[in-house]
Amino acid sequence: MEYCAPGTLAEACAALGAASGTVKVMAGGTDLLPRFAAGTPRPALVIDIKKVPEAREIRQLSDGGFVIGSACSGNQISAQTALVASWPGLTEAMDLIGSVQIQGRASLGGNLCNASPAADSVPALIAARARCRIAGSNSERELPVEDVIVSPGRTCLRQDEFIVSFSLPARPQRSADAYLRMTPRTEMDIAIAGAAVNLTLDEHGVIQECHVVLGAVGPIPVYALAAARILLGTRLEDEVRQRFKRQVSVMCRPISDKRGSAEYRTDVTAVLAERAALVAYSRAMA
Ligand SMILES: Cc1cc2nc3c(=O)[nH]c(=O)nc-3n(C[C@H](O)[C@H](O)[C@H](O)COP(=O)(O)OP(=O)(O)OC[C@H]3O[C@@H](n4cnc5c(N)ncnc54)[C@H](O)[C@@H]3O)c2cc1C
Repeated sequence: MEYCAPGTLAEACAALGAASGTVKVMAGGTDLLPRFAAGTPRPALVIDIKKVPEAREIRQLSDGGFVIGSACSGNQISAQTALVASWPGLTEAMDLIGSVQIQGRASLGGNLCNASPAADSVPALIAARARCRIAGSNSERELPVEDVIVSPGRTCLRQDEFIVSFSLPARPQRSADAYLRMTPRTEMDIAIAGAAVNLTLDEHGVIQECHVVLGAVGPIPVYALAAARILLGTRLEDEVRQRFKRQVSVMCRPISDKRGSAEYRTDVTAVLAERAALVAYSRAMA
C-alpha cells in the first residue's frame, strides 16, 4: 500500500487522477485504519488530505456564513467560538464523536464519507443546509450534503473525487439548531437514534423555516420534511409537539438489533426530535 500526503489541492487532485489501482482518501483515519486492521482489503494508494490547506481551514465569510475544511477535526471545530455560537447543533454533534483521542483526529468529511447511518454530524449538516465542495482530477462541483450518501457505506463520489470543504449559509436573526442522540451506553458508543433540528423564528417567536433530520433510523439520514412542516407557523405548542412526534415516528424505518429494537428506536427518535426542537427554539429566542 502506497501512501502520499499532498501539500496542495492541485497535488491531491493530480494524485487522484494518476492513481491506477484502488485509492482511498484519508483524513483522521479513525474509520479507515480500524477497517484495515479488521482485514478489509487495502487500497493500492492512500491519499492523506490533512496537509491540503483548503481541507484544514475554517473561515467566516463576509455574509456571516462559514467554510469548514473537510479534514477539520472535532477539536478544531469546537475551538472556533464564532462557529459554535452560530451553529451550536452542528458543533455539539461533532463534539459527541468518540473520545478525547478520536476528537483530535476524526473529521467532518470522514464522518460524512464513511456513510454510516449512525454518523452524528450528518443529520446536523443536512439540517443546516450545508453544501460540499467536491474536487476531482479534472473537475470541481458542489452538492447539498443530503445528496452525498446513497446507501450504508456508499457515497456518490467518484474514485477520483474528494470533499474539500463544507459551506454553511449565513444565519438569519432568531435562528438556531440542536442535535441530540441516544446511545445504549454512556461512554464511547454510536447512536441508536439521533435528531437534528434547525429553525428560524419571526419577531413574534413563530417558526418561519424549519429543517428536521433523523439519524440511525434508516439506511441513510431521513430528511423529515413532513414533520418539519407541522412546526411551521407555530410556537411549538403542546398539541403541535404531539402531532410532530407522531409524524416523526411514521418517518422512522430503523432496524432491530442487539442495541435496540425498531420500536424502541422509533419511540426514542420522536422524543429526541421533540427535545431538539425545544432546544433549538429556546436558543433562537435567546
Ligand atoms: C473509538 C471510536 C469511537 C467513535 N465514535 C463515534 C461517534 O460517537 N459518532 C460517530 O458518528 N462516529 C464515531 N466514530 C467513527 C469515526 O470516528 C467518525 O466517523 C469520524 O468522523 C471519521 O472521520 P475520519 O477523518 O477519521 O475519517 P477517515 O477514517 O479518514 O475516513 C473515513 C471514510 O471517509 C473517506 N473520506 C475521508 N475524508 C474524505 C473526504 N474529504 N472526501 C472523500 N472521502 C473521504 C475515507 O476514504 C473513508 O472511506 C468512532 C470511531 C472510533 C474508532
